[in-house]
Amino acid sequence: MNDCKIVLPEYVTRLLAHLDSKGCTGYLVGGCVRDALMGRQPQDYDIAVAVSPKELKCILDGYRTVETGARFGTLTVLVQKHSVEITSFRRDGVYTDSRHPDKIEFTNSLIEDLARRDFTVNAMAYRPDTELIDPFHGRQDLQRGVLTCVGDPTTRFSEDALRILRAMRFCSVLGFTADSKLAAAADKCSPLLREISVQRIYAELVKFLCGKYVGRVMRQFVKPLCTVIPPLEKAVDFDQKNPHHIYTVYDHIAATVEACPPQPLLRLTMLLHDIAKPYVMTEDANGVRHFRGHQERGAQMARQVLTDLGCDRRTIEKVYRLILWHDLRPAADRVSIHRYLLQVGYENALLLTQIRRADLSAQAPAYHDQFSQIDATEKMIRLLWEEGAPADVSGLAVNGVDLMGIGIRPGPQIGCLLTSLLEAVADGEVTNEKNVLLQKAVMLQT
Ligand code: ATP
Ligand code: MG
Repeated sequence: MNDCKIVLPEYVTRLLAHLDSKGCTGYLVGGCVRDALMGRQPQDYDIAVAVSPKELKCILDGYRTVETGARFGTLTVLVQKHSVEITSFRRDGVYTDSRHPDKIEFTNSLIEDLARRDFTVNAMAYRPDTELIDPFHGRQDLQRGVLTCVGDPTTRFSEDALRILRAMRFCSVLGFTADSKLAAAADKCSPLLREISVQRIYAELVKFLCGKYVGRVMRQFVKPLCTVIPPLEKAVDFDQKNPHHIYTVYDHIAATVEACPPQPLLRLTMLLHDIAKPYVMTEDANGVRHFRGHQERGAQMARQVLTDLGCDRRTIEKVYRLILWHDLRPAADRVSIHRYLLQVGYENALLLTQIRRADLSAQAPAYHDQFSQIDATEKMIRLLWEEGAPADVSGLAVNGVDLMGIGIRPGPQIGCLLTSLLEAVADGEVTNEKNVLLQKAVMLQT
């Protein structure tokens, strides 16, 4: 990291050269500089320039451009199937709503532009022909692995509270440790997150959840997370007093989120899977706590939480089902698994094995022998899939028309009969062959 040379894709170098040729000095800024210095492939390249958006449009005459954020001075340039955002240097005015600056002003000072950025590691600028421009010592913070705000964290989070979630995301995804002042300010300013649009919150939340270090960050940033997901608050410090568990509900949730594969659907499911436990808890005479019905109640609560966060309906319904079924533990034999598949379907069955593994990994080690049971379950699901075993009536070798062909009257009984045939196949009573099923249908009718 000492010699600061960043290898840039050709389309970026060319664009910088074009800007240069027009007397406009472009600097790479933000996430691409941070990622490149960390040895990570930048997802996209952002350029900052001293000229106004109007001048920029003239300079880019001949290029395909889209005014993605004209109000903020951002133009997206499309070059060789890539898009590059070019933004005029700006300084932000006063913030009165914890969301947006009341007005923005363009400036010709790069340093001022870097000063309005959120974290020191995001406030560096780079050009191939100059030293790294790093007025806030972002590179040192990168080397130390510490996330620090540019300026006073309370001020910065009060200007735009979404920065709290961005901080959590950068710690979770990139492994930074939050600077202690930043963490304290995040706590203090978390009520301001209520002013932020749910769309912005949800987008950051999903990225945060998919980070490698999410468990640790969830434990550090309890208050902001509970501000965006209020029912989670009861899980904090909630002792499960049950031999299966060694963690509080919140810590168990944090461990399971991190333990499951980093897919938004799975991570959202883990985040909410036990959310109802404190709400349904009963304690028996021996002081052991039970959580009967937490699956149903949790599924309903998750639906509400995700609806409030503006999540799409498909994801909401999927999470709902996965939470409802997260504690099902079918035996791994063929019939039990086939019956289970009739209930949940193949796709969910495989997702549920991942969920059960994550869940189990955050329970008392005495129960870890159940991992082999989950492995056996997965093996059987895959075997049945390879064999083409039907998980719903559409997979049967007969359909309603076939049944009517042997004289069964149209009507709801056709559907019931197909379901009975499906169950007979799952129970191993008959094979999934047309003649066999038609014979069975006749028998079931009489
Ligand atoms: P990635 O693209 O990997 O998600 P990034 O750091 O590039 O991360 P962007 O949202 O693309 O994040 O923002 C680009 C840059 O703009 C950031 O690096 C930061 O300098 C600045 N920035 C973005 N959002 C904010 C904000 N809310 N407050 C202050 N600066 C911000
Ligand atoms: Mg970016």
